[in-house]
Amino acid sequence: MAMNLMLMGLPGAGKGTQAERIVDEFKIPHISTGDIFRAAMKNGTPMGLEAKSYIDKGELVPDEVTNGIVKERLSEDDTNVGFLLDGFPRNMAQAEALEVMGKELGKSLTAVINIHVDPESLMERLTGRFICRDCGATYHKVFNPTKEEGKCDRCGGSEFFQREDDKPETVKNRLDVNIKMNTPLLDFYKENGLLHEVDGNQDIEKVFADVKEILDNLK
Ligand SMILES: [Zn+2]
Repeated sequence: MAMNLMLMGLPGAGKGTQAERIVDEFKIPHISTGDIFRAAMKNGTPMGLEAKSYIDKGELVPDEVTNGIVKERLSEDDTNVGFLLDGFPRNMAQAEALEVMGKELGKSLTAVINIHVDPESLMERLTGRFICRDCGATYHKVFNPTKEEGKCDRCGGSEFFQREDDKPETVKNRLDVNIKMNTPLLDFYKENGLLHEVDGNQDIEKVFADVKEILDNLK
């Protein structure tokens, strides 16, 4: 059976790392929305040009166009052996469009993997980063603290700051938006039996071992 996969996971769950490992191990193309948008626009495909017209106007690209770009990509022969969708679908309209194009192309999803990490742990992962004001060295409260508290290992500086993106309010908001977006999709893929949950609160190797076991069983 072809490995027609979709990967899900909240920000900080380690989706990017697992995506790399999966495509490397199973030799399937990685179809990440950002990449295929850039490629479609660069190559001037019909849908790429359409997307560009919205982006140039500073408008959101409508679902139909996003779906069209994914369909163009899934129509290419390298996906005959399978593929890993990353960043698509993002909502139910896109999920339904994917069902339709999957049937048309004979490339329906065979599994959805969700790297699950509870939001509290994600908050800890994503808000822990701090930076030395003097030399720019980067630390993490939990995973990479300074050897001596309040003192930069590199320059001895004692003033630190957090980037806007790493501040608790910003992170909380980003997680909330993503949880709201993912929940209906997770429900949908659970109901149709495609969803496989992986515990992302383990080290990277163990997470990948779990993913691999699921995927090996699909073959
Ligand atoms: Zn420093």
